[in-house]
Amino acid sequence: MTEGRDVPSVFETLESEVRSYCRGWPTVFDRAHDSRMYDEGGHEYLDFFAGAGSLNYGHNNPVLKRALIDYIEQDGVTHGLDMSTTAKRAFLESFRNVILRPRDLPYKVMFPGPTGTNAVESALKLARKVKGREPVVSFTNAFHGMSLGSLAVTGNAFKRAGAGIPLAHTVLMPYDGYLGDQVPDHLLLEGLLADDGSGLDTPAAVIVETVQGEGGINVARAEWLRALQELCHRKDMLLIVDDIQMGCGRTGAFFSFEEAGITPDIVTVSKSLSGYGLPMALTLFRPELDVWEPGEHSGTFRGNNPAFVTATAALQAYWTNGPVMEKQTRALGEQLDGALADERPQDVTTYRGRGLVWGVEFRHEGRASAVVRRAFDLGLLVETSGTRDRIVKLLPALTITRDELEEGLRILGRAVRDTA
Ligand code: PLP
Repeated sequence: MTEGRDVPSVFETLESEVRSYCRGWPTVFDRAHDSRMYDEGGHEYLDFFAGAGSLNYGHNNPVLKRALIDYIEQDGVTHGLDMSTTAKRAFLESFRNVILRPRDLPYKVMFPGPTGTNAVESALKLARKVKGREPVVSFTNAFHGMSLGSLAVTGNAFKRAGAGIPLAHTVLMPYDGYLGDQVPDHLLLEGLLADDGSGLDTPAAVIVETVQGEGGINVARAEWLRALQELCHRKDMLLIVDDIQMGCGRTGAFFSFEEAGITPDIVTVSKSLSGYGLPMALTLFRPELDVWEPGEHSGTFRGNNPAFVTATAALQAYWTNGPVMEKQTRALGEQLDGALADERPQDVTTYRGRGLVWGVEFRHEGRASAVVRRAFDLGLLVETSGTRDRIVKLLPALTITRDELEEGLRILGRAVRDTA
């Protein structure tokens, strides 16, 4: 018996109920190129999702693909734990020369394991080890990953509940704008830290996203981030910026915190680092924080050499020629901003974003998933963001063309109208 319209697919019969994206996009994808995906039935989809921020340079980017194919054909090392390899050396040298040095960033580089949550776990561990304290401050609607330490600094109640054990040693504080204009910036955290009766033990660190990608596209103001850094310095807490979704050029600059003029003590990067959708993550920190013992944080897949190869190719192709990439992303972001301003449907209460990450917020709960579903039927992949099913997140590849951006917005507009 072959699978067909009336026969449940292997995805339904064998794959766990935990599967999620495939439910919202019920087709079987087969090929992908630049900003397009194709299913096995030959339908074409314009991609405004970009692998949740892992495909900033598009699907199967030809420059990265060539580098990868050449490396495989030469029998380059694929798996190497954290052995020194030519691919790792080329990546480290490129990262230092193309990213760190021009930005005057003093960081050491750690390979924590291939996923974002691996980087977050290592950042939390390191901060606690350095400071000898347990609490870490995180923010409302934050998302930092699904392993226990990362969940403990994540806001989403549904995801937190999945832990099945208490998520401890963290303190959640309001993100920028969470309390509207009622409380001046950081007053609550500052007040608690200053008050011996507050019950707040001095935290080791604060972990923050400059734009909350999963938590509703909440954009922190530059002055809020600067004040947070200043508070961290004053109170001897480490500042961790989780740049897993917003880094690698998503907001314009390579690191999303550059615009605010801050230098976090620890930075986590993953998603679009390899540029090709291959798993890879980094934890960056000030050299004086490098108190690890050899092997104290390890993992089998820290040396994903094919990812080093595509990451190096991406740095060379997109980040060596000054601010070209940044300018292009900002220009596309302005196009998106302008189009959303011109054609704002009645039930859209607000939209917000930076660079090429935007959130469109609807008045009514449940509206976002209806729009996303209709957009899929019309050939556009977009996702929701946040907890109340009110926000549609636009996350196209940074290499998308102006015409494709316009096309996607046209489809989105139609999806909104069709579901009104
Ligand atoms: N941190 C942020 C800001 C993220 O957006 C994500 C994933 O969406 C993660 C951490 C977790 O990354 P991963 O899913 O690779 O573990």
